[in-house]
Amino acid sequence: MPDVGRYRSGPSMASFTLHGIPVSRGISIGRAHLLTPAALDVKHYLVPQEQVEAEVKRLQDAIAAVHRNLQELWTDLPKDAPTELGAFIDVHALILSDPLISEAPLDIIRMRHYNAEWALVTQIDELSAQFDEIEDEYLRERKQDIQQVAERVLKVLMGTALSVPPILGGDDDYHPQMIVVAHDISPADMLAFRDRSFIGFVTDVGGQNSHTAIVARSLDIPAAVGMSQASRLVEQDDWIIVDGDAGVVICNPSQLVLEQYRARQAALGKARKRLLKLKKTPAVTKDGTAIRLLANIELPDDCPHALEAGANGVGLFRSEFLFMARGADGLKIPSEDEQFEQYRRAVVAMKGRPVTIRTLDVGADKPLDPTEHTALNPALGLRAIRYCLAEPQLFLTQLRAILRASAFGKVRILIPMLAHAFEIDQTLNMIEQAKAQLREQNIKYDPEVEVGAMIEIPAAALALPMFVKRMDFLSIGTNDLIQYTLAIDRVDYEVAHLYNPLHPAVLQLIGMTIAAGQKAGIDVAVCGEMAGDIKLTRLLLGMGLREFSMHPAQLLAVKQEILGADLARIVPRMRRIMRSMEPNEIAEAVEQLQLI
Ligand code: PEP
Ligand code: MG
Repeated sequence: MPDVGRYRSGPSMASFTLHGIPVSRGISIGRAHLLTPAALDVKHYLVPQEQVEAEVKRLQDAIAAVHRNLQELWTDLPKDAPTELGAFIDVHALILSDPLISEAPLDIIRMRHYNAEWALVTQIDELSAQFDEIEDEYLRERKQDIQQVAERVLKVLMGTALSVPPILGGDDDYHPQMIVVAHDISPADMLAFRDRSFIGFVTDVGGQNSHTAIVARSLDIPAAVGMSQASRLVEQDDWIIVDGDAGVVICNPSQLVLEQYRARQAALGKARKRLLKLKKTPAVTKDGTAIRLLANIELPDDCPHALEAGANGVGLFRSEFLFMARGADGLKIPSEDEQFEQYRRAVVAMKGRPVTIRTLDVGADKPLDPTEHTALNPALGLRAIRYCLAEPQLFLTQLRAILRASAFGKVRILIPMLAHAFEIDQTLNMIEQAKAQLREQNIKYDPEVEVGAMIEIPAAALALPMFVKRMDFLSIGTNDLIQYTLAIDRVDYEVAHLYNPLHPAVLQLIGMTIAAGQKAGIDVAVCGEMAGDIKLTRLLLGMGLREFSMHPAQLLAVKQEILGADLARIVPRMRRIMRSMEPNEIAEAVEQLQLI
């Protein structure tokens, strides 16, 4: 096992294995990087060697700026200010001058190449842990002063972020690749990791279809959640293996285990390379039925991945991720022009292929503002279209931005969480209103833009005539459909074992939706995680599904399944599956489909 001396290592470290929920396939081997909630708020990237001194200077400058700022505070203190205020400024200035704050983080930048914010937070976390051990309560509470000083420096740093391109962690001994271990990671934070140097994610909590898990899958980085105690048991810089297929984390593995996993990793890498050959092969079943394979994206930057995987278009652009990226000062709602630019980028990048933009789906595990109060039952609260209809100006702004992008290529608008006819009607009215506003300003859009509904609430799947009459297409959101049908929170790992896509009730609702779409002659897609699960591809084909939307990373494996599927053999078995009310029987029959 590599050891460069600056990491905890040695024979004393016990090896142990943790079991949780598999989230994103593949195997990662690297050093644990423990993230505390505070650390999650800052950027993490490795600074290239040639920029290390510039990064050191950036931190030094920020510290000097805070010194000046404290000095100014002193000078500006009113004469009658309470004496504690002056003392408080003194304490902060003293803390800031302490080498543990002013110098140790500089060493971290030089040694580990962490960016300045990350280096500072790493050092503060270490100091905070030491303070927690102090018995004297007064001294122990000084920890808060240290954190406040660090926050002052971080504020300055965030306003002066260097535009250094993040570099990937190497896989040599000097820059070992890192795996994030955290109690929890929000979807927005997970998304912010996309350009950074982490090769795996492990969290104590979370479900297989939480948005954090979905984003991890879209990053195509091995991940496991629901590990319960991982962030307490794993220590900073421990060597860990994440088996994202099995949901297993092995900490401080023996040489033998390490070698076995490296061999598996290599075999998986080869299999992936083989799949790449299918990129241009049309997705057609053995008996000649053409299937449309679309991509789920979070940001326009995902479009090149969609094209590399040979996607026929974008089936789900989760637009809320544009709203969840936070600036240094917190929440920043993108303006109409900013949104338009992002939608246009996606449309142009897809080179004429359709781009299905889902309107803002905030709420539940994707709060617009995480600092605001959360509803008692957020998954059942003011989510998605409910939120948009309650905030008509925000919704109109988004609709105008999407419509403007439709002048640059084929755009479809997808509405999440619809359940009521009046919601559909209000939404369609708002779209007409947005079009009228654009016409008044002589701004171009596609007048034929199609509008579709997510079918993700059981009530919607049970009232399909209401939808097919009003909508141009349907897209089944199996993640929420399962959550709401089985009454289990998709984010809660304690009920994760009850999250079963093969529950007969779930299959009935999906089957009914596909059949209703076929009867009405409108497209029906599945854009929930079921579409990307190769164990379910044949089942969905047998149910009549012809449009699958998933993360680009899953697309070629699903295509391989489609190429090997013979509908003439699958369809006769579907009756039994769809009629069965016995979950074990269904599971077995679905497994059998894989073998024919
Ligand atoms: C779904 O619910 O299946 C879906 C695709 O939407 P999201 O996962 O964003 O809720
Ligand atoms: Mg959903």
